[in-house]
Amino acid sequence: MRVGLIYDPVYLEHDTGTHVENGQRLTATIARLEETDLISKLTLLSPLTLLSPRAATTTELAAVHAPEYINRIKNQSERGGGWLDPDTVTSPGSYNAALYAAGGAITAVDAVMNRQVSSAFALVRPPGHHATCWQAMGFCLFNNIAIAAKYALANFDIERILIVDFDVHHGNGTQDTFYAERHVLYFSTHEYPFYPGTGSIDETGTRNGEGFTVNVPLLAGWGDDEYQMVFEDVLAPIAKRFEPQLIMVSAGYDAHWADNLASMQLSVSGFARLVEIIKTLSEMLCKGRMVFVLEGGYHLEALSLSVAATLDILRGERKISDPLGRQKIKAKPVNFDHFIGMVKEMHELR
Ligand SMILES: [Zn+2]
Repeated sequence: MRVGLIYDPVYLEHDTGTHVENGQRLTATIARLEETDLISKLTLLSPLTLLSPRAATTTELAAVHAPEYINRIKNQSERGGGWLDPDTVTSPGSYNAALYAAGGAITAVDAVMNRQVSSAFALVRPPGHHATCWQAMGFCLFNNIAIAAKYALANFDIERILIVDFDVHHGNGTQDTFYAERHVLYFSTHEYPFYPGTGSIDETGTRNGEGFTVNVPLLAGWGDDEYQMVFEDVLAPIAKRFEPQLIMVSAGYDAHWADNLASMQLSVSGFARLVEIIKTLSEMLCKGRMVFVLEGGYHLEALSLSVAATLDILRGERKISDPLGRQKIKAKPVNFDHFIGMVKEMHELR
């Protein structure tokens, strides 16, 4: 199974200094992939197919963002950068890096849809899933996955894309983009209540998109077992009913127990299990077509191990490396079954 990895040092040109979302996230991940021989420096026999991203065009960005907004990001970068909101900063290289981040997700779509690879992982930054039509927020400039999903619908003969977002934060920008659309089903697990405040169970879409947004808000402290149940009991039947022709994943790894930005308790093995479930669904429903796009993940060791484990699962390895291990085993949360029942009832799942 050929797995594509999209990466380019251009992503380091989005220079955020000591901000928690910084270039070390990618350099640490690349170092880990080299160390584990997923990227082989010495031979051409790398287990991964390395792909160079292209820049997204402004027309491609405009499928999601207002032209005025795109210009604002460009102009601010050209003037030397600055703060766009209390969390989100740009530098002179940010606009270019952001074009290549969206373009990297598009490159991944092309490689998968043209059968160059079975699945692909766009190791990009700045991240994207909080960015809305008009607004940068939560470290995000352009909504990479939403732009790439729009590109896939416009350029290939498909009309149903499932986006699975397991970043610990709700992807409000992605949800907004497709809230009134039935061509893209947006499924998110996220800590709740938490930043950015959206993603309650009853946000289910509107007009033509009613029922095509599925939010599974999770309480702080839940971990591997709860996520696995949500993916098996909610995501799997939703996916089978929707019959996606492509599965895209907002792959954020900030739900790891060691990540300080949030309070979920997933382990590297837990992330690997979620990826396995997504992979099984994609093989059953859409010829194994999967496009992963990096979102958050701020503990460098947890992030790099989790990306390596994801790539291992995608290429068919059964064993992954999880030296950080799991947090102490705890009892199933009280009322968890009732919660799952509520989500299933909301979406008319048996
Ligand atoms: Zn996040």
